[in-house]
Amino acid sequence: MNSIQNNKIPQATAKRLPLYYRFIMNLHASGKQRVSSKELSDAVKVDSATIRRDFSYFGALGKKGYGYNVNYLLSFFRQTLNQDEVVKVCLIGVGNLGTAFLHYNFMKNNNSSIEMAFDIDESKVGKDVGGVPVYHLDDLEDKIQDEFEVAILTVPAQAAQQITDRLVKTGVKGILNFTPARINVPEEIRIHHIDLAVELQSLIYFLKNYPLK
Ligand code: ATP
Repeated sequence: MNSIQNNKIPQATAKRLPLYYRFIMNLHASGKQRVSSKELSDAVKVDSATIRRDFSYFGALGKKGYGYNVNYLLSFFRQTLNQDEVVKVCLIGVGNLGTAFLHYNFMKNNNSSIEMAFDIDESKVGKDVGGVPVYHLDDLEDKIQDEFEVAILTVPAQAAQQITDRLVKTGVKGILNFTPARINVPEEIRIHHIDLAVELQSLIYFLKNYPLK
């Protein structure tokens, strides 16, 4: 296998990796041995020139009339995405959104698992939601110190920064922020913001102003 280092893959390509991985897993499960860039393109809705360029970073060179070897791609993706190691995730804020995530969890087609949740509402603390124990936020440091790599924030916006500061001290490296708050983190911490209200508004704006034909 090509020994490309993850950090050599451009970020835009890296972002598409999980998408490719999911599709290749399905192909593998259905017993397919090879796939063309056209088939991939139709399935994942990425143009085939981009796919060919992305895959060249993976050391996967498609052959004309043959396509890509599914087994090769699968083992490449497994290795690159560290599929053999489960990333422990904690969730803060067991409201409507947090509860939905706990029920959904991510284990189905992912290598991450929400293992603990935290809240300040005494009526939620001590419960099990979707098989995940809910602890009081006061116990955050005790429970997760040096054990959790990723945290999901589904608390009210005004609580987000203070909780983030505590999470960072426990060794969390990545935060998926579902609150509308724009949070400050030290530069070694990666934070991804997902503001569902903004996404919806933006979709509606585009529908109105940039109709597709
Ligand atoms: P959602 O925003 O998920 O729809 P909601 O409307 O049910 O949730 P919110 O007020 O947004 O409720 O709070 C989300 C959750 O965060 C609640 O369970 C609440 O108890 C919890 N929460 C509020 N403040 C804090 C805090 N400082 N630390 C931890 N959890 C908090």
